[in-house]
Amino acid sequence: MILVSACLLGENVRYDGANTLNEELLELLKGKEILPICPEVAGDLPVPRPPAEIVNGDGNDVLAGRARVENIAGDDVTPAFLKGARKVLVGLDLQKIDFAILKSRSPSCGIDQIYNGQFNGQLREGPGVTAAYLRSKGIEVYSEEEPEKIKDRIKE
Ligand code: SF4
Repeated sequence: MILVSACLLGENVRYDGANTLNEELLELLKGKEILPICPEVAGDLPVPRPPAEIVNGDGNDVLAGRARVENIAGDDVTPAFLKGARKVLVGLDLQKIDFAILKSRSPSCGIDQIYNGQFNGQLREGPGVTAAYLRSKGIEVYSEEEPEKIKDRIKE
């Protein structure tokens, strides 16, 4: 089973109520068992919702309690992000998860780059909260911007 960010599959779950449908990815995943996930919705955040960024760290820091997630209004939404990350795996047999494909640069799903917490469009290195959580459980994560790697991984 492959976990996939729901917005990449065309579900309107993004903060702005839109999706990021990726046709190339859909083609790659044809015939595969996929499970759409949206950790922010799983964390009971509404659609639409104010954009959020990780302040003073990345998803690993949030998991360790060293950083928090704030929305653009300055509200602390860390509990919802943590709840959503954990909820994604509830009831699943980890042995049956092959890997995950997650939306790049999201404060939840980004795998190696996220926005820097200042809402100025600048990026910093590091994963989002859910990507960090899945990795902590031994699950490999890829971004939709790595189709060649995904193709190779699917062939294994
Ligand atoms: S990037 Fe992740 S958290 Fe954001 S809308 Fe897509 S699936 Fe949901």
